[in-house]
Amino acid sequence: MKMYYDKDVDNDALAGKTIAVMGYGSQGRAQSRNLADSGCNVIIGLREGGKSWQIAKDDGMTVKTFDEAAKEADIIHILLPDEIQADVYEKHIKPYVETGNTLACSHGYNVHFDLIEPPEDVNVIMYAPKGPGSMVRETYLQGFGIPGLVAVEQDATGDALQIALGMAKACGFTKAGVIETTFKEETETDLFGEQAVLCGGLTELINAGFQTLVEAGYQPEIAYFETCHEVKLIVDIIYKKGFAGMWKDVSNTAEYGGLTKGPQVITDEAKEGMKKVLSDIQDGTFKDDFAAENATDAANLKEMRAASQKLDIEIVGTRLRKACGLQDDDE
Ligand code: NDP
Ligand code: MG
Ligand code: MG
Repeated sequence: MKMYYDKDVDNDALAGKTIAVMGYGSQGRAQSRNLADSGCNVIIGLREGGKSWQIAKDDGMTVKTFDEAAKEADIIHILLPDEIQADVYEKHIKPYVETGNTLACSHGYNVHFDLIEPPEDVNVIMYAPKGPGSMVRETYLQGFGIPGLVAVEQDATGDALQIALGMAKACGFTKAGVIETTFKEETETDLFGEQAVLCGGLTELINAGFQTLVEAGYQPEIAYFETCHEVKLIVDIIYKKGFAGMWKDVSNTAEYGGLTKGPQVITDEAKEGMKKVLSDIQDGTFKDDFAAENATDAANLKEMRAASQKLDIEIVGTRLRKACGLQDDDE
């Protein structure tokens, strides 16, 4: 494993370069403010009439249309939702990409799956924080950063890695450390993580536990506390001290029960499901599914989103979080 810190970054990597950050959402807003506060020359590329335009202006950023920003920039950092990047690239970025420019992103999805095909004479780099935009900004303001990844898909100028590291440093990530990866590895593992474990796997695990208790006649509020609320407390310990630290912190009863019963829940069958999820990512099945979904204006996604908001665990959870002051009334 190759890990880079502040000391490994060439201070001149970004000297004289104009960086256009396309998008001002979760990552765009946080990264571009960190870049600007670190002394980089940053402009924001956006569509006119969108919500972000005024937000970026109010933050004191220089805001231009996608086309104008792309035209001016040496480094074009695309931080738009993954499903719209290819379209924006085709219409508003590609016409202005010049020899020796750098195309950057924080998720390799579009480049890895050939939805964006940059010309050979430009750098193609990725650097990404392992955390949401809010943390990217918060940790930077605290004088630190969150760990991240860095990858080079095309090195046209010979210093593509240093450009990527320079941007990662300006965002604070090399204070914590960035690991070198490839577009393929980052894209496939990121998708797998969010589908099988972090977002998909975790919500299914929690909900299955909640339903099991409620169906057996226990109070839903108690079921919610035991199967959902306490997840954070356990994950916080694992985040800091690993499984061993967690097993040490919980009671011997929880340790014995967890170690003996966990494998009865996450069985070989669950692992087979994970392998299928991974092969669908690797062979492009998921990419095709997601493209088809977006072609229908995300009709299924909207339906699933609505259904998920109506789950018993969500209704009970919202009520309980408000009663305990964990969630504001207007949230
Ligand atoms: P967001 O959804 O927060 O991006 C919102 C921005 O995109 C806004 O500025 C919005 O402008 C613009 N936008 C949305 N739809 C359109 C459209 N149809 N046309 C033009 N502009 C549009 O994105 P994220 O920050 O979540 O993700 C950006 C990238 O970072 C992705 O590649 C993602 O995978 C990656 N990433 C994200 C992480 C995260 O924590 N969110 C973590 C690591 C990587 P407007 O106001 O005009 O709508
Ligand atoms: Mg992701
Ligand atoms: Mg307990």
